Amino acid sequence: MSKRNDNILSSPVEYLKGVGPQRAELLKKELGIFTFKDLLEHFPYRHIDKTVITPIRDIGPDTDWVQVSGRLKSCEVIGDKRAKRLVAEIADATGNLELVWFQGVNWIHKSLSVGQVYLVYGKVSYFNGEAQISHPEMEPVSPELKDARSFLEPVYPSTEKLKARGLGGRQQAKLTHTLLTIIRETDVPENLPASMVKMLKLIPRYNAFSSIHFPASPAAYDEAVKRLKFEELFIAQLRMGLVKIQRHRFSKGMVFGQVGDLFNTFYSNYLPFELTGAQKKVIKEIRKDFGSGRQMNRLLQGDVGSGKTIVALLCMLLAADNGFQSCLMAPTEILARQHFQSLSNLLRDMHVNIGLLTGSVKNAERKKILSDLRDGEIDILVGTHAVIEDNVEFKNLGLAVADEQHRFGVAQRAKLWTKAVIPPHVLVMTATPIPRTLAMTAYGDLDYSIIDELPPNRKPIQTVHRYDHSRPQVMDFIRSEISSGRQAYVIFPLIEESEKLDYENLFKGYENMKAWFPEPKYYISMVHGKQANDVRETNMQRFRDKDTQIMVATTVIEVGVDIPNATVMVIESAEKFGLSQLHQLRGRVGRGAEKSFCILLTGPKLGKEARERLKTMVSTNDGFKIAEKDLELRGPGEIEGTRQSGALNLKLADLLQDKQLLENARNLAFDLLDKDPDLSSPENYSTKEYLRLLTGKTPWSKIS
Ligand code: ADP
Ligand code: MG
Repeated sequence: MSKRNDNILSSPVEYLKGVGPQRAELLKKELGIFTFKDLLEHFPYRHIDKTVITPIRDIGPDTDWVQVSGRLKSCEVIGDKRAKRLVAEIADATGNLELVWFQGVNWIHKSLSVGQVYLVYGKVSYFNGEAQISHPEMEPVSPELKDARSFLEPVYPSTEKLKARGLGGRQQAKLTHTLLTIIRETDVPENLPASMVKMLKLIPRYNAFSSIHFPASPAAYDEAVKRLKFEELFIAQLRMGLVKIQRHRFSKGMVFGQVGDLFNTFYSNYLPFELTGAQKKVIKEIRKDFGSGRQMNRLLQGDVGSGKTIVALLCMLLAADNGFQSCLMAPTEILARQHFQSLSNLLRDMHVNIGLLTGSVKNAERKKILSDLRDGEIDILVGTHAVIEDNVEFKNLGLAVADEQHRFGVAQRAKLWTKAVIPPHVLVMTATPIPRTLAMTAYGDLDYSIIDELPPNRKPIQTVHRYDHSRPQVMDFIRSEISSGRQAYVIFPLIEESEKLDYENLFKGYENMKAWFPEPKYYISMVHGKQANDVRETNMQRFRDKDTQIMVATTVIEVGVDIPNATVMVIESAEKFGLSQLHQLRGRVGRGAEKSFCILLTGPKLGKEARERLKTMVSTNDGFKIAEKDLELRGPGEIEGTRQSGALNLKLADLLQDKQLLENARNLAFDLLDKDPDLSSPENYSTKEYLRLLTGKTPWSKIS
């Protein structure tokens, strides 16, 4: 009975009636359709309701997509080579309508015949006050149409090239229709447990495929989409869950069984504040992992300022209590140095050795650190990515913490495995640049903790948008904050493409600030990426020590920098920054008990999206809301760190629109795996088989 290798759906698309080698080549190139299955899963993005035909007279400014039926009265190519277009006129009993094509002109000209009656479908636009449709779909009205097989006709994504070769939306619909007549229910067997299908009231797969292409009614279409979206999300989550289980089962982890002197002493004597409930909860979750005998792979999300650093420190003390080394990795040299300083400060009265390793630690100093590390003299190594370079050897690395690096992906984690016989525990910390739905799909194989509470007494940051001409008032405001002992940041954009100009603006801005705030009453630090490390560090330190009141900088201070006395964040040319960047930058203030302010400065002309971003920033401080908005404005493919993630290859589901469905699918997938991690019960057989076909092997052997 085993037919899986000659399953009809794996047949090359060229063997489908009506395709052939030449069209097959086009389908591959233009749409990535190689097999029957690919064609089946090439879903229409819209359907045309064939029963509705609008009289031309009724077309008005509010008309959007429209179908008319009329006789072609004229059709001619006009313009020269460069601006060649095809202009046609169609008429019904109520009026005339202009149709126009700019591409594929000759081919379309040839295919149309004046005098013939056509069904015309397209989007109405206005040109010189006259309604017209550009690039409409044209179908000759013939008797055959009367018994059109469905009420709603599918429209597929196509390209001009395909249209020109007779593979436009209509023709694709014909192919899909042919395909559906030759496949049977057994070719698309159920892949979900029967009880789930029943509980969610899902329609059978064959019906779903059939109805998503050729629905008998809008309701039938909705049912089909519901089924296929759920299946898509469920299967993706199931695969992630299996990776997780696999790792839990086969990866050994070092056991940090005891809470020792270091942790306890620090906790009772040196902790500078009471931990928030959320911080305590997260530490508990991590301690559970440490005791489990499995390697921890945990993502810790917490909005800017929620206090992730202290959580990392406590975890590293636990490692040290159990005789293991840790490392803390930061994305920038500035942040690494800051962590080194603040950890050294917090631990100054304790017997814990901390080392700093970054790209700019050189020669003798570097040698000493490397050898101390090998000898186990260093308990905690703080640094940039330099920490996981090949020549860095630990005596017994037990825990690696990656700060503000949602891009600390699988490859980097794999590097850590080479640092110890048993892989170290991994904690990836990030403020919230990604919404939860994305985190679930892109990082779904990690365990997940969240700090969803800010330390007490934080006053919300007040954010305003000001135009450049209000600069004098902004400067007055900075002056008044400084006179009450506070400090201010002024940030300039630095974009790779316009780097030279941006640097000029930065230096000009610095000179300007000096004119507004002259020495010796005021001092200004400037920090940017082109400075030598020691110059930059001196400038940072002077600001930290309050020797300077203003810091002019690029986004090198975007993440992590923690100077609670600073209460004003001015962002110049704020329209040039993305939302998550703005939120991170704003997070540099509001870190102490004083009320803080963020001022977004822009020129007078703003695009629509920039306006939306500024509006969002002014209206909320909530990182999750901002991340959602970011996703909405840019789309998931653009969100940092997820671009290469295959996890986002969703054909139907939309992470924004289908949030609820995704949550459902995830919960159900993980519940199922809790009960039956090997998918060995008969109930789950069909799902297991489906995964086996999908990956070519048993579900878990290939995916990680
Ligand atoms: P982030 O999550 O952005 O990395 P940090 O760890 O830098 O946040 O913490 C932000 C600021 O809040 C720091 O100045 C830190 O000392 C302080 N902080 C952290 N936890 C608490 C707490 N429970 N109570 C009061 N202040 C805290
Ligand atoms: Mg931080």
